[in-house]
Amino acid sequence: MLCVDDVKTNLLTLEAIFESNDEDYNLLMAMSGQEALDILQTNEVDLILLDVMMPELNGFDTAKLILKNKKTKDIPIIFLTAKQDDETIKMSYEVGGVDYMNKPFNVTELLKRIDFHLRLKKSEKLIHIEKEQIQSLINLQDNFVLLTDGVKAIKINSAIEDFFQVKSISEFQEKYGCICKTFIEENGYYHLGLVDTEELWISDVIERLKNEDVIVKIKDIENNNHIFAIKAVKFENSLFILSFTDITSMSEQSREYEYEASHDPLTSIYNRNMFVRVMKEKIKQRIFTNKGLSLCVLDIDHFKDVNDTYGHLVGDNVLKHLARLIEKHIRSEDLFARWGGEEFILVFEFGINEAYRKVEFLRKIIEKENFGTVGSLTCSFGVSEYKYGDTLESLINEADKALYEAKASGRNMVCQI
Ligand code: GH3
Ligand code: MG
Ligand code: MG
Repeated sequence: MLCVDDVKTNLLTLEAIFESNDEDYNLLMAMSGQEALDILQTNEVDLILLDVMMPELNGFDTAKLILKNKKTKDIPIIFLTAKQDDETIKMSYEVGGVDYMNKPFNVTELLKRIDFHLRLKKSEKLIHIEKEQIQSLINLQDNFVLLTDGVKAIKINSAIEDFFQVKSISEFQEKYGCICKTFIEENGYYHLGLVDTEELWISDVIERLKNEDVIVKIKDIENNNHIFAIKAVKFENSLFILSFTDITSMSEQSREYEYEASHDPLTSIYNRNMFVRVMKEKIKQRIFTNKGLSLCVLDIDHFKDVNDTYGHLVGDNVLKHLARLIEKHIRSEDLFARWGGEEFILVFEFGINEAYRKVEFLRKIIEKENFGTVGSLTCSFGVSEYKYGDTLESLINEADKALYEAKASGRNMVCQI
């Protein structure tokens, strides 16, 4: 503690008071404002008792200089003065003093006030340290962490600053205002278009989080899309803490897995699994509609010869070529899949007569196609039609039988049972 007074006896009185007190204050004394400033430069001081009336630098001017200095600006100052006029009391607080006491003072009151301001200072310091710790904690997160009132961001962590290339919360507020404005409006992702105009988006997010994940898409400054899962907590003062976890690679990976599980790696068309999945759904729907449903099994004629003559790789290219050719001549709603080996399967949402014509058209296209090294080749086709009570198995069995007939009858033809 630093006591400043130009009257020596006053300082000695204070010294006597503090010495007889239980608290073990480390006492420093100065007889002028300038001396006080010098002491403050080289000593750590918790509190200053400052006389107002002093020659040269008076107490108020001394206080102003102390509070202007970065090193000393947070030290609480209590003014001690014999002056009791309103102007002095007002000035004491205006220049930044935390308290004011008249001389002569009541010793107990002085000690109590000193004790109060020291404790206040200590708890302010603790709060400051805690704040810094929390900021470091959130800055250590790879996740976005932000505090918001739902309208604008109030605090953001370094991960957000790095992602949006901003240096401070004010720059973020200026550029974006609310993080919600960065959500891309796209199907399957959460965005402002889904929120009622009356409602606060963040309240909507908290409601949704009770039942589902809330996923948003945000572009970084290089225009790359990132996918985030949001978590949110509401505080009593209507503030929210949000955390955004970047799940871009996870969702890309799951999309890749999904693709691999449903597509044939050689021809990139649907595989047998996916065909069965889609087809079961179509058959289920059949119960409610009268629309036709026809299936065609296609098998390349003498494909073994292609492999035997030109090798397996050329055979592979023929399979790819054939898949592209068929894809080009069917509609996107027709189902086309690799059944296995050199067999493919097609499903049309129309009756057998139309299906027969369509398949006959494909047969001719294939027959005319030049397959490069291999030259021309042909396929045989078996067609069947869904009837009430059919299953996927029965539908395929029938088409298989028709295919067998096509093969047996000389190949390069379409048969139906
Ligand atoms: P058919 O006219 O009676 O159908 O005669 P085919 O030679 O086409 O029939 P077969 O069932 O005897 O032979 C089918 C051949 O298809 C044998 C197999 O090596 C080949 N094959 C199956 N899958 C692939 C593949 O992924 N790549 C290549 N290159 N060949 C395959
Ligand atoms: Mg075969
Ligand atoms: Mg074959």
